[in-house]
Amino acid sequence: MLAEGAAQLDAEQAFSGHPSIWWEVYNLMRCTDPPCNLGPHCWRDPVGKKHYKLKSHHLRSLIMHVQDGLTLKTHDDIPEEIREQLYAEEQ
Ligand SMILES: [Zn+2]
Repeated sequence: MLAEGAAQLDAEQAFSGHPSIWWEVYNLMRCTDPPCNLGPHCWRDPVGKKHYKLKSHHLRSLIMHVQDGLTLKTHDDIPEEIREQLYAEEQ
């Protein structure tokens, strides 16, 4: 919980001009359904259903994509670039 709070505060400070964007991204990427032990934020691979832990730099780059016009409504909308980062870090 402490780490999550720190990450949120971090994002809040970095994107203080766009609080609703970071809130939406953090909220969407919160690990649920069912939650795993990697969280608090995960990307669920729509194909393999596997969870990939999202660190604050992943969340930050997602927020930047959203600011650039990406529509992020589901985990299917995660850009290829971020998926590749997550796959690479997994290995
Ligand atoms: Zn998870």
